[in-house]
Amino acid sequence: MNVIWAPWRMEYILSEGKGEGCIFCPGDDRTQDEERLILYVGSLTIVMMNRFPYNNGHLLVAPIQHLPGLEKLSHEETLDVLLMVRRSIDILKKTMNPDGFNVGLNLGRVAGAGMEEHMHFHIVPRWNGDTNYMTVIGEVRVIPEHIRETHRKLRTYFDKL
Ligand SMILES: [Zn+2]
Repeated sequence: MNVIWAPWRMEYILSEGKGEGCIFCPGDDRTQDEERLILYVGSLTIVMMNRFPYNNGHLLVAPIQHLPGLEKLSHEETLDVLLMVRRSIDILKKTMNPDGFNVGLNLGRVAGAGMEEHMHFHIVPRWNGDTNYMTVIGEVRVIPEHIRETHRKLRTYFDKL
Protein backbone atom coordinates (compact mmCIF):
# COMPACT_ATOMS: atom_id res chain seq x y z
CA MET A 1 0.00 0.00 0.00
CA ASN A 2 1.28 3.45 -0.91
CA VAL A 3 0.75 6.07 1.76
CA ILE A 4 0.95 9.68 0.69
CA TRP A 5 3.17 11.44 3.18
CA ALA A 6 1.39 14.58 4.31
CA PRO A 7 2.98 16.10 7.44
CA TRP A 8 0.52 19.04 7.51
CA ARG A 9 -2.11 16.44 8.36
CA MET A 10 -0.62 16.62 11.85
CA GLU A 11 -1.93 20.17 12.22
CA TYR A 12 -5.35 18.85 11.36
CA ILE A 13 -5.14 15.97 13.81
CA LEU A 14 -3.88 18.27 16.59
CA SER A 15 -6.51 20.92 15.93
CA GLU A 16 -9.29 18.36 15.76
CA GLY A 17 -11.99 18.96 18.32
CA LYS A 18 -11.01 22.59 18.84
CA GLY A 19 -12.98 23.76 15.82
CA GLU A 20 -15.61 26.42 16.17
CA GLY A 21 -18.65 25.46 14.15
CA CYS A 22 -18.98 23.12 11.23
CA ILE A 23 -16.84 23.78 8.13
CA PHE A 24 -19.36 22.08 5.85
CA CYS A 25 -22.37 24.19 6.83
CA PRO A 26 -22.20 27.03 4.30
CA GLY A 27 -24.05 29.65 6.40
CA ASP A 28 -25.39 32.83 4.83
CA ASP A 29 -22.16 34.82 4.52
CA ARG A 30 -20.86 34.26 0.99
CA THR A 31 -18.07 36.85 1.42
CA GLN A 32 -15.97 34.28 3.31
CA ASP A 33 -16.19 31.65 0.58
CA GLU A 34 -12.70 32.29 -0.81
CA GLU A 35 -11.11 32.24 2.65
CA ARG A 36 -12.99 29.02 3.42
CA LEU A 37 -11.89 27.53 0.05
CA ILE A 38 -15.51 26.99 -0.96
CA LEU A 39 -15.93 26.31 -4.66
CA TYR A 40 -19.67 25.89 -5.01
CA VAL A 41 -22.81 26.34 -2.95
CA GLY A 42 -25.93 24.93 -4.57
CA SER A 43 -29.39 24.48 -3.11
CA LEU A 44 -28.54 20.97 -1.85
CA THR A 45 -24.78 20.52 -2.15
CA ILE A 46 -21.56 22.32 -1.24
CA VAL A 47 -18.07 21.75 -2.70
CA MET A 48 -14.84 22.98 -1.12
CA MET A 49 -11.12 22.35 -1.19
CA ASN A 50 -9.63 20.37 1.67
CA ARG A 51 -7.44 22.72 3.71
CA PHE A 52 -5.37 19.71 4.78
CA PRO A 53 -5.12 17.83 1.49
CA TYR A 54 -3.73 14.42 0.75
CA ASN A 55 -2.89 15.74 -2.67
CA ASN A 56 -3.27 18.91 -4.73
CA GLY A 57 -6.89 19.32 -5.83
CA HIS A 58 -8.31 17.31 -2.90
CA LEU A 59 -12.02 18.28 -2.89
CA LEU A 60 -14.81 17.71 -0.39
CA VAL A 61 -18.44 17.38 -1.50
CA ALA A 62 -21.16 17.54 1.16
CA PRO A 63 -24.90 18.00 1.40
CA ILE A 64 -25.96 21.46 2.61
CA GLN A 65 -27.82 19.78 5.45
CA HIS A 66 -25.82 18.99 8.60
CA LEU A 67 -26.34 15.23 8.59
CA PRO A 68 -24.03 12.40 9.70
CA GLY A 69 -24.85 9.62 7.24
CA LEU A 70 -25.82 8.82 3.69
CA GLU A 71 -28.99 7.10 4.92
CA LYS A 72 -30.21 10.40 6.41
CA LEU A 73 -30.29 12.12 3.02
CA SER A 74 -33.39 12.33 0.86
CA HIS A 75 -33.22 10.72 -2.57
CA GLU A 76 -33.00 14.18 -4.11
CA GLU A 77 -30.07 15.13 -1.86
CA THR A 78 -28.29 11.84 -2.52
CA LEU A 79 -28.63 12.34 -6.26
CA ASP A 80 -27.48 15.97 -6.09
CA VAL A 81 -24.41 15.13 -3.99
CA LEU A 82 -23.43 12.29 -6.33
CA LEU A 83 -23.93 14.48 -9.39
CA MET A 84 -21.63 17.07 -7.81
CA VAL A 85 -19.04 14.36 -7.17
CA ARG A 86 -19.26 13.54 -10.87
CA ARG A 87 -19.05 17.19 -11.96
CA SER A 88 -16.11 17.79 -9.61
CA ILE A 89 -14.26 14.85 -11.15
CA ASP A 90 -15.02 16.24 -14.63
CA ILE A 91 -13.60 19.65 -13.65
CA LEU A 92 -10.50 18.13 -12.04
CA LYS A 93 -9.93 16.04 -15.18
CA LYS A 94 -10.19 19.13 -17.35
CA THR A 95 -8.00 21.38 -15.20
CA MET A 96 -5.42 19.11 -13.55
CA ASN A 97 -5.17 16.12 -15.86
CA PRO A 98 -4.82 13.45 -13.14
CA ASP A 99 -4.16 9.79 -13.93
CA GLY A 100 -6.82 8.57 -11.51
CA PHE A 101 -8.91 9.39 -8.43
CA ASN A 102 -9.60 8.12 -4.95
CA VAL A 103 -13.23 8.89 -4.15
CA GLY A 104 -14.56 7.97 -0.76
CA LEU A 105 -16.71 8.42 2.25
CA ASN A 106 -15.56 8.03 5.85
CA LEU A 107 -18.60 7.34 8.02
CA GLY A 108 -17.96 7.48 11.75
CA ARG A 109 -14.83 8.44 13.67
CA VAL A 110 -13.57 4.87 13.72
CA ALA A 111 -13.57 4.96 9.91
CA GLY A 112 -11.40 8.07 9.89
CA ALA A 113 -14.05 10.77 9.66
CA GLY A 114 -12.62 14.02 11.04
CA MET A 115 -16.01 15.73 10.91
CA GLU A 116 -18.36 12.82 11.46
CA GLU A 117 -21.41 14.99 12.20
CA HIS A 118 -21.58 16.29 8.63
CA MET A 119 -21.01 13.63 6.01
CA HIS A 120 -18.81 14.46 3.01
CA PHE A 121 -17.19 12.76 0.07
CA HIS A 122 -13.46 13.05 -0.50
CA ILE A 123 -12.18 13.35 -4.05
CA VAL A 124 -8.42 12.95 -4.29
CA PRO A 125 -6.84 13.26 -7.73
CA ARG A 126 -3.87 10.95 -8.24
CA TRP A 127 -0.95 11.16 -10.60
CA ASN A 128 1.47 8.41 -11.50
CA GLY A 129 4.35 8.78 -9.06
CA ASP A 130 2.60 11.33 -6.84
CA THR A 131 3.73 9.65 -3.62
CA ASN A 132 7.31 10.53 -4.54
CA TYR A 133 6.31 14.04 -5.45
CA MET A 134 4.61 14.53 -2.09
CA THR A 135 7.65 13.27 -0.20
CA VAL A 136 9.83 15.83 -1.92
CA ILE A 137 7.65 18.88 -1.30
CA GLY A 138 6.09 17.77 1.99
CA GLU A 139 8.39 19.44 4.50
CA VAL A 140 8.61 22.69 2.57
CA ARG A 141 4.96 23.38 3.27
CA VAL A 142 4.29 25.21 0.03
CA ILE A 143 0.82 23.75 0.06
CA PRO A 144 -1.30 26.69 1.35
CA GLU A 145 -0.42 28.99 -1.57
CA HIS A 146 -0.82 26.02 -3.84
CA ILE A 147 -4.34 25.57 -2.50
CA ARG A 148 -5.30 29.23 -3.04
CA GLU A 149 -4.01 29.10 -6.58
CA THR A 150 -5.85 25.87 -7.31
CA HIS A 151 -8.98 27.28 -5.68
CA ARG A 152 -8.94 30.32 -7.99
CA LYS A 153 -8.44 28.11 -11.01
CA LEU A 154 -11.18 25.62 -10.12
CA ARG A 155 -13.61 28.33 -9.01
CA THR A 156 -13.94 29.68 -12.54
CA TYR A 157 -15.20 26.26 -13.63
CA PHE A 158 -17.58 25.78 -10.68
CA ASP A 159 -18.98 29.28 -11.26
CA LYS A 160 -20.21 28.09 -14.66
CA LEU A 161 -22.27 25.21 -13.20
ZN1 LIG B 1 -22.48 20.96 9.16
